[in-house]
Amino acid sequence: MKIYNTMTRKKEEFIPIEPDKVKMYVCGPTVYNYFHIGNARTFLFFDVVRRYFEFRGFKVIYVKNITDIDDRLIEQSIKENIPVSEIAKKYTEAYYEDIQALGIQKPTHQSKATEYIDEMIALIKNLENKGFAYEKNGDVYFSVEKFKDYGKLSGKKMEDLKAGARVEENLNKKNPADFTLWKKAKPGEPNWKSPWGKGRPGWHTECVVMSKKILGETFDIHAGAIDLIFPHHENEIAQAEAISNKPLAHFWMHGGFLNISGEKMSKSLDNFFLTRDVLKKYDAEAIRFFFLSKHYRSPIDFNEDILKESVQAVKNFYNVLKDVKYLTSINERPEYTDAQIKLKNQFNEAMDDDFNTAKAIAVLFEIAKVLRSTNDLKYAHLLIELGKVLGFFSNLEEKLKSSLDDVSEELILLLIRYRSQFKKDKNWKMADAIREDLQKIGIQLKDTKDGTVWEIEK
Ligand code: AMP
Ligand code: ZN
Repeated sequence: MKIYNTMTRKKEEFIPIEPDKVKMYVCGPTVYNYFHIGNARTFLFFDVVRRYFEFRGFKVIYVKNITDIDDRLIEQSIKENIPVSEIAKKYTEAYYEDIQALGIQKPTHQSKATEYIDEMIALIKNLENKGFAYEKNGDVYFSVEKFKDYGKLSGKKMEDLKAGARVEENLNKKNPADFTLWKKAKPGEPNWKSPWGKGRPGWHTECVVMSKKILGETFDIHAGAIDLIFPHHENEIAQAEAISNKPLAHFWMHGGFLNISGEKMSKSLDNFFLTRDVLKKYDAEAIRFFFLSKHYRSPIDFNEDILKESVQAVKNFYNVLKDVKYLTSINERPEYTDAQIKLKNQFNEAMDDDFNTAKAIAVLFEIAKVLRSTNDLKYAHLLIELGKVLGFFSNLEEKLKSSLDDVSEELILLLIRYRSQFKKDKNWKMADAIREDLQKIGIQLKDTKDGTVWEIEK
């Protein structure tokens, strides 16, 4: 299995630290607002990484943190005029709801930053004792020049870093590129007591402490989207490795952005769609399909036309699977034939090649094609088994139940034909009656340039 490692800028063979076990840490949300569909891309992809490892027989220990103290929460608390703890509670709950609605599985550990403050203070103290950190006016900074490998993940050079950081010069810092470990609280801000006075930890320290506490000093995979390479992950490495002298993670995985007209979707650019709003319009599996049909490191432009095509693609899978309701147990795996094993291997090969979900989906299409022409239920099993690895077909039984049997479908098509004839005859009353009566029983007709289509209202 090969995974692209940002640290080496190469695809490398994945060898777990402990046999058959994967320890992974994915930087989670800062809960100051609802998360947008760009964040969802990253969350969703790493859900698939976890599912695939499990499918290949690994035990996965998956930590995803919740940053529940940060400047942005404080700003939002002022905006909404409610305490920071209430902001955290409100948006953590919303986060759980949206994650569930997206069909993302819970990680094995969901750590909250505010539950680890003592450990964060201890880490900063340790860095100070070892000469990597210094205090100035109640703030504590990490001295980047003391850590000789600083810049190794992002490939940034010290001189460029200094020049870049000078723009927002902070006179407390010895070197403009130094970063904050502990931030002094302003009056009224949430704070914790520390050897440097009342304040709060910096974001980078939070992730170091939580990952180390749950996964140990070195773990297999550390991940996020590419915006986290610098400064967040670079600064995590500096703090963790300054103390342990060991690599923080063996693999650094970074997903590409969801863009809008070529620009990163982000709150600060105000060019975002909230996940919960997109979910009102599009089914979670269609959103999943939309993201997974591209490679995770490629940028994707948010495009509703392609989203609509994804809706259709997912519908087609369900249509092909309609006959599966005759299966007694969907979970019981049949003895696959050589041809089916070959397809399964193709799926695995695609996923083993740095999680090429686009190719893996192409294999699903191939299976669906054979299933349609042969009606061989073993292909249905295979389609479901592999689809589930990508997170599809989670409510299969329910969705199939709600789809119509062939006779009902024929009847609807018959009514649509009658309605077109009524329209041709200018009998608007009858044409409208058909549309309205179907609507009453939950079937909606839509007139498109290619004719009338129908769908079951959700
Ligand atoms: P945040 O809540 O801003 O810390 O972001 C949560 C996660 O979403 C992090 O892993 C980010 O790297 C990721 N992320 C933020 N914006 C985007 C985007 N436009 N596309 C993909 N991932 C993103
Ligand atoms: Zn992090």
